[in-house]
Amino acid sequence: MLRKVFIQLAILAAVSVLSGFWFTTFGVNFFVGVATGVLLQFGGFYFITTLLNVYVALKNKKLENERLKEFSYQGLEVTCPCFKQVKQIVPVRLNTSNYYRCAECNKSVSVIVDATTASVTEPISNTALPSFNEELLKNISNANS
Ligand SMILES: [Zn+2]
Repeated sequence: MLRKVFIQLAILAAVSVLSGFWFTTFGVNFFVGVATGVLLQFGGFYFITTLLNVYVALKNKKLENERLKEFSYQGLEVTCPCFKQVKQIVPVRLNTSNYYRCAECNKSVSVIVDATTASVTEPISNTALPSFNEELLKNISNANS
């Protein structure tokens, strides 16, 4: 840890001294060049650190969204039996017992999956009258005439 700090400080000092020599070629004072080099390095470090933090935050948000999306495929919105009645979306698997920890009361809660069945009404696809009705209508109209 301490070795890493010394290495970082040595790199900072070396780059700052090089910056000071580089500034003297333009007629600027050596120490002004060193100070500018130090400030530019800290600014660059801050800029890169900020970019990395933003990148990591975006990546984490994307992973969180993917996790929630996966939960929505195999998750249920359940209500904790505690008095706060907290609703949570928890992952549910059919091949194992399902437990989760309530976010409010911090108790372990079991999820009991109960399946029910219902008949599905199929839509009528053919609305044309059967042919025997046409025969019947023809016979009726012949009888009337
Ligand atoms: Zn609870």
